[in-house]
Amino acid sequence: MTPATTDLTPIRTAVDGKRLWQSLMALAVIGATPKGGNNRQALTELDREGRDLLTRWCEAEGLTVRFDAIGNLFARRAGRQPDADPVAIGSHIDTQPTGGKFDGCFGVLAALEVIRTLNAQDIETERPIELVSWTNEEGCRFAPCMMGSGVFTGQLSLEAARARADVDGITAGEALDAIGYAGRDADCPRRFAGYLEAHIEQGPILEDEGKTIGVVTGALGLKWFDVTLTGMDAHAGPTPMHLRRDALLGATRVVEAVNRIATAQAPDGRGTVGAFQVSPNSRNVIPGQVTLSVDFRHSDDKTLAAIVDEFRRTLDGIAAETGLGIEITPTADYPPQHFDRACIDAVRRGTEAHAYAHREIVSGAGHDAVFVADVAPTAMIFIPCENGISHNESEYATPTDVTAGANVLLHATLELAGQTAKVTAAETDA
Ligand SMILES: [Zn+2]
Repeated sequence: MTPATTDLTPIRTAVDGKRLWQSLMALAVIGATPKGGNNRQALTELDREGRDLLTRWCEAEGLTVRFDAIGNLFARRAGRQPDADPVAIGSHIDTQPTGGKFDGCFGVLAALEVIRTLNAQDIETERPIELVSWTNEEGCRFAPCMMGSGVFTGQLSLEAARARADVDGITAGEALDAIGYAGRDADCPRRFAGYLEAHIEQGPILEDEGKTIGVVTGALGLKWFDVTLTGMDAHAGPTPMHLRRDALLGATRVVEAVNRIATAQAPDGRGTVGAFQVSPNSRNVIPGQVTLSVDFRHSDDKTLAAIVDEFRRTLDGIAAETGLGIEITPTADYPPQHFDRACIDAVRRGTEAHAYAHREIVSGAGHDAVFVADVAPTAMIFIPCENGISHNESEYATPTDVTAGANVLLHATLELAGQTAKVTAAETDA
């Protein structure tokens, strides 16, 4: 006779993909846009409606729902050890103004589907499971992004977050109070035994390689700069070519250098010049000044530092050769994030249990999980999104991939939470 309670290998079980898909489509009705997307920005009336629906769904599953002071939702399914730190699973339900149905919502509703499956199949866990929906991940109405998880992890103070204003001068605190979702930190967990977030990839790699699951090992570190090149404004007609100090011509060399330096660090190197200001920006004046933005990313700290060193050396060279003044101002700096080995392995075993095609992947975008990883063992699960497109009304993931991602989340959650099998005949006999 095998006592089922000591076996912590997750039961081979699966979510109800149809039920999950229906929930995704039902949430997407709130703030639906004409082109099939979603506009449910953080702390708006529509966000309130979305939160109302999610709360009703959680309560229907018997979960205990609370909100902390910045409005993060925590919905708990009890474990056999009621005082053990919970395993948290979730994401966010706020969207961009022209956002899609899947960014964030997939992770929250996959978490809900995991809980519905456990309830339907009478599966208990040792640890409690805490469904989490973070406030204002997108940061479009109120900057910065990842506000709720930022406050939870201490990246940002509650006061600073509440003081952030939208374009109309309404603060995040006022908006949160107006929708009635400011709660008390004392009612909510402050520690997790683990955190798992399922999300669409928001990039093209999984689709390109025909993989169903991305086992996310961390997130790229990021360094941002503003670069100003200063030459001399002069008339485009009378000034011969060899007597010019053309800041825009120098800037094109910077753009090429950024691309070359990042490309040399494939596959994880990224380098982008995304914004340009040309002065005086006139057809018949040689540009005297150009300011441009530089965004470098890499998964490895040392490589990212080496990228920046080469960038600075290259710009010194361009300054010497062209006679332009070049000034480099750092504007943002986030180190690469490395997720927890045990959590990553739990995700991988989930994909293997279902024989899904998968690969390890590093997130190029920011996520709540990147903040949570500072305070709890964390990993993420990516599924492909069509053409790698997100933050767009046409954002799409297939029902098959949505189901697969939720199945991996189910398996990994059971592993971290220590599942207890259904009462068996053997146990009853004893
Ligand atoms: Zn997201």
